[in-house]
Amino acid sequence: MKTPAGFTELTGLQLGQIVKSMGEPAYRVGQLRKWVYQRFATSFSEMTDLPQAFREKLEAKMRVSSLEVLRTVTGSDGTVKVLFELADGNTIESALMYYDGGGEGTRRYTVCVSTQAGCAIGCEFCATGQQGFERNLTSGEVIDQVLYFASYLREKDKGHKKPENDKTGRVSNVVFMGMGEPLANYDNLWRAIEMLNSAEGFGLGARNMVISTAGLVPQIKRLAKEKLQVGLAVSLHAADNELRNKLVPINRKYPLGQLIPACREYNQITGRRLSFEYILFKGINDSIVQARRLAELIKGMKCHVNLIPANSTSNPSFQPPIHRVVLAFEEELKRCHINVTLRQRRGQDIAAGCGQLRSRFIQDARSRREKSILAGKT
Ligand code: SAH
Ligand code: SF4
Repeated sequence: MKTPAGFTELTGLQLGQIVKSMGEPAYRVGQLRKWVYQRFATSFSEMTDLPQAFREKLEAKMRVSSLEVLRTVTGSDGTVKVLFELADGNTIESALMYYDGGGEGTRRYTVCVSTQAGCAIGCEFCATGQQGFERNLTSGEVIDQVLYFASYLREKDKGHKKPENDKTGRVSNVVFMGMGEPLANYDNLWRAIEMLNSAEGFGLGARNMVISTAGLVPQIKRLAKEKLQVGLAVSLHAADNELRNKLVPINRKYPLGQLIPACREYNQITGRRLSFEYILFKGINDSIVQARRLAELIKGMKCHVNLIPANSTSNPSFQPPIHRVVLAFEEELKRCHINVTLRQRRGQDIAAGCGQLRSRFIQDARSRREKSILAGKT
C-alpha cells in the first residue's frame, strides 16, 4: 500500500507542504485540485500542464484515487453498481442512478456512496448489516466514489450524443445511503461533504446531498447546527418501539421517544424538511393500522415519507408486500395528510440494496476458496 492512499485524503495544508517539498510553486495546489475535482483525472500522467518530473514524483508518492474497481454491473434501468477494493483490501460498493423528469434538462444523476466498510448496526433485513463492521471510510475514500462516477459519466458521453434531457452529463446529487451508517463516521463524512461542496473541490450544492441515518440522536442534533444545508433522511421502518427494536437495533439505544423529538428539533433549528424512509416488509410493518400509527407519530412535522418496497436479500423473512398492499399503505398516509412518495425501485436485477453486490462477492470468494481447498484435498 502506498501512503497516503489517495490524493483526496490530503488537506490543503498537507498538499501545500508536499508541493513545496518538491520545489514547486504554491499555485500547483490549485492546478492539481482542478485536475482531480473538476476534470476528474484518474492519473497524474494526464495532467499535461504540470512539469513531467513533478508528475513522476507525485506518481511515486501517492495515488490519485484510493479505489480499484473489482466489478461493475449495469441494470436494465441504467443503474450502474460498482464494487471497489480499498488500499487495505476491504471492499465497498457504490451506485449511479439516473432519474428523468419531464422535459429538457431534467435528467439527474445520483451517486449513492458508502461511508463505512460494513455496518455495526446490524439490521437483519440489510445485506450490509449481515456482513458485520470492518472500519470507517476516510473522507478521501468517500470523495473518490463520487469522482469515480463523475469520470465515468464524462467517459461515457465522449463521442456520444447526450439524451435531450441531459444538459450536463454531470453528477447532480450525492446520497449517503450506501454501505454503513454515515453519522457513525461523522468527522470523515463531514470533511468529505465540505470538499464535495467547496468551490475548489467538486462544487456540488449542499442541498443536492442527502445523509441517511438509522437514527443516531446526538449526531442528528449536531447536524442541525451545521451551516451547510445538507438533506437528512431518517430510516424509520416502524412507528412503535417494539417493532423498531427488532428491525433497527439502534432503536434500543435511541428509542422513538428520543428520535422523533430530535427530528422535530431539526425541523425547528434548520427550517428544513426531512425525509423518513419506510421500507415495507410483507406481514411485518405493512398494515393499515401501522400506516395510521406512522401518521400519528410524525403528525405536524415538516417531512416527507419515502415508501420503499423491500429488496429481497438472503434473509427470507423480509419480503416486499404485493403491490396492492403497498398502494393501500400509501393511500392511508395520504388520507392522514402525510406527504408521501413511493420510491421508484432501481437496479432490481443487479442486487440493488446496499451491500448486496459485496455479499455476492464475499460468497463467491468463499466458494472459490472452498472449491480450491476441496480441489487440494483430492
Ligand atoms: N445506515 C443508513 C444508511 C445506509 S442504508 C441507514 O440505515 O439509513 C440506506 C437505506 O437502504 C436505508 O434506508 C436502509 O433501510 C435501506 N435498505 C437496507 N436494506 C434494504 C432492503 N433489503 N430493502 C430496501 N431497502 C433497504
Ligand atoms: Fe447499517 Fe443502514 Fe444497513 Fe441498518 S440499514 S445495517 S444502519 S447500513
